[in-house]
Amino acid sequence: MDVLNKLMAIDPNYIIMGFIVIFFSLEQILKAPFDFKNRISHLFQNVLFQIILVLLNVFFVTFQVYSIEWLNSNNIGLLYMLELPIWAKLVISLMFYDITAYWIHRATHVIPLLWRFHRVHHSDTSMDSSTVFRFHPLELILVFGVGNIITAALFGTDVFSMALYYFILYLFFFFEHANLNYPRGLNSTLGLVFVMPDHHRVHHQQDQYYTDSNYADIFILWDRLFGSYKMMPVEKMKYGLVEFDSAHRQSFLYLIKSPFLSIKRTSKNKSETQTRL
Ligand SMILES: [Zn+2]
Ligand SMILES: [Zn+2]
Repeated sequence: MDVLNKLMAIDPNYIIMGFIVIFFSLEQILKAPFDFKNRISHLFQNVLFQIILVLLNVFFVTFQVYSIEWLNSNNIGLLYMLELPIWAKLVISLMFYDITAYWIHRATHVIPLLWRFHRVHHSDTSMDSSTVFRFHPLELILVFGVGNIITAALFGTDVFSMALYYFILYLFFFFEHANLNYPRGLNSTLGLVFVMPDHHRVHHQQDQYYTDSNYADIFILWDRLFGSYKMMPVEKMKYGLVEFDSAHRQSFLYLIKSPFLSIKRTSKNKSETQTRL
């Protein structure tokens, strides 16, 4: 626990900066599976999203922490009714945060108003580690951030487990989005329980049949359990959304205002090349 306490004491923004430096550098040095161009300008556009998020979070994180601490001080939520060792509570708390995020993520694909914000993340036609930053800040704060408060209200999870959840979440996010070749065999081993890059690559397909799948962030178990698990061969992958497939629509300014624009969803129907693995 001591190591964990020390880790959680580090400013999360420094941890995220560390992750992007490591993953983005590896993408430039190693042989990548997808040969994308203009990596620096792509990085720049995506980093702008993170800057806005960090600024807005100055206010929101205080609200989030205050809300969860208030819930905890009143012993609200399932975990307050159970006698469990600390480590078990921690692992279960991570699973609670992750399963809530799974259902919220699934809702963002189904509810048109939420999709307007969430499609910003899916718009990236040349996905790499910086795509981790490409979320509309209002989605992260008002949808997923409030989701964590709901998790604490229902299950009694605390701020410490949320901090640990975010650390693991961002590690998985960079791992899943990075344009890197990973060892073969991940999908059939760790991938039975955890989300692997190939799972999340399927989620970023232009074909809506695949976009609407593999919603989990950390535990792929949720997709396997709730019938949203899909796989396809890496060679057939094409990232992004058809309606955002132009240089103008890949810019930060266009994307930040895009939830307030009427953009028709254009997608092919169920893919001919579908394969369930
Ligand atoms: Zn999604
Ligand atoms: Zn993603």
